[in-house]
Amino acid sequence: MSAATATPSPPLAQTLLDRFGHEGFRRGQKEAVEALVQEQRDVAVFWATGGGKSLCYQLPALHAFDGKAGLPQRAQGIVVVVSPLISLMQDQVRALNATVRKDGEEDIACFLGSSQPDPNVLSRAVAGMYALVYVSPEKLLSFGLMDELIQRQTRVLAFAIDEAHCICEWGADFRREYAQLGRIREVFPNTPIMALTATASPRVRADIVEKLKLRAPLTCKGSFDRPNLEIAVKSRPALARAANEIAADFRKRPGPSIIYCATRKLVEEMAAALGSELGPDHVRRYHAGLSDGERSEAHGLFITGQISIVVATVAFGMGIDKPDVRRVIHYGPPKTMEAYVQQIGRAGRDGLPSQCVLYFQEQDFINYGSDFYVSGLSPEQRQAVEASTQKLRNFSRRLQCRRYQLLKAFEEEDPSWGTECGTCDVCRMPSKKLVMRDYTEPARLLMSKIYSSGSAWTHIQKRIEPGAVKGWSMPKLRKLLEMLAAEGFVGAEECKVKLQNGFNNTFVKYSLLPAGRAALQTQEPVLLTPSMFLLDLEKEDAMAHNKRYDE
Ligand code: ADP
Ligand code: ZN
Repeated sequence: MSAATATPSPPLAQTLLDRFGHEGFRRGQKEAVEALVQEQRDVAVFWATGGGKSLCYQLPALHAFDGKAGLPQRAQGIVVVVSPLISLMQDQVRALNATVRKDGEEDIACFLGSSQPDPNVLSRAVAGMYALVYVSPEKLLSFGLMDELIQRQTRVLAFAIDEAHCICEWGADFRREYAQLGRIREVFPNTPIMALTATASPRVRADIVEKLKLRAPLTCKGSFDRPNLEIAVKSRPALARAANEIAADFRKRPGPSIIYCATRKLVEEMAAALGSELGPDHVRRYHAGLSDGERSEAHGLFITGQISIVVATVAFGMGIDKPDVRRVIHYGPPKTMEAYVQQIGRAGRDGLPSQCVLYFQEQDFINYGSDFYVSGLSPEQRQAVEASTQKLRNFSRRLQCRRYQLLKAFEEEDPSWGTECGTCDVCRMPSKKLVMRDYTEPARLLMSKIYSSGSAWTHIQKRIEPGAVKGWSMPKLRKLLEMLAAEGFVGAEECKVKLQNGFNNTFVKYSLLPAGRAALQTQEPVLLTPSMFLLDLEKEDAMAHNKRYDE
């Protein structure tokens, strides 16, 4: 028996206070830490961002470290943390060595990866000199690090797999190397593994447990409800107008803001437009086409508050550990519900009110069905992605409390606040907008054209005389057609045509469903709740009308 085990360890709560300065555990932390430390049990921590996940593996590491009393600085066992991004590792290691390390101690945490400049760090790490060793999956898997730990008989208390959803092949943040982390279990069959992620999707969680080969893990699952997020969905206008709106909003409520766009090109355009509205010094771009230098500059300036706005593709994501992001805007929807939830989750980690605005058009979702977006996926993955796209599409167009819809999409029980959060766009809509209206005349026109020969919008449009129904322009009729499809009067089937460049293009082919046929045959009025797209166009009509009146 060594001297270390003879000295009784201080209770976990003592280490929590001594090292981290926290008076107590947050909900779930104690259970997660105890399962790992006392039972050597696998643990899966599924909490929303900001929930305090990192403490669940940092505390066990420091606790073991402090239990060594009287020995030279050498941990009683280390915790190996796998993390997908160097910047994320560097931030955490820096923070630990700056605040958790005690005066006079050497560094208690280090990171290993291709960008670690100091060769001594590796040998000190495998000798067990650090309580926490952060490592990229590549480093862990391919440089014999695991073998070395075994040869040197370094005691590994646990492996912590941070951002564990990166293991999921069809998720937005997939990392190839993560897929092989199941090897840890094979090489270290008796070492507990802790998986951590903020993903809300039950499918992804199940995937994590399976791929990491977790054995009956203690599953810590919190609510993903984020009461401080004010969620809104709007129809997507042209870029210049959206930029104008975003800028006006920003002037009213300034604060760190992330604007997501679907492509690099849109990022460039949006950044330029916002730059000219708000001054280029406020705005930076971030996408995979920029140099490392440009990207880390944008990242750094944003994190430190020197710029307020980053316009980015999905590439800007993990590692944005900034508590006071006041606004996450999507100019165009992300591909999946999972990605959406992950991205809006970056807003308001400090618990203060924050805005999330999603701008979309039906066509955006239809485009996601084309080969370009799903190439390289297996049939099952493709199906999972498409189902998730559909979920987000339904969420976007259904006029039901957004927060309620989000929770329901991830199978949570009914929230304590009922079915209306009171802060989202739907809850804040004046109720008169939501009542049914009579659309009999334009609906009959559309359905009769589809009845005579079901087809694509371009064909239907040609068969309608301009002004056939007073006050109904083609764009408005199109929005009504989408409503008829959503309400089950009209079938909308997505069809693919092969283009010359080899890609498939997708369009929607309409047909009459039994409800539509019945509506045509009877004298029943067609009553529908207007979609927000139609409401938008009506608002424009009204504005144009007033303007004419003024002139
Ligand atoms: P996550 O990784 O789940 O996004 P973090 O681990 O970054 O969350 O924790 C979020 C914040 O909560 C951090 O500022 C952290 O210091 C703080 N925190 C974590 N646990 C506690 C605790 N028990 N008491 C007080 N603050 C805590
Ligand atoms: Zn609501």
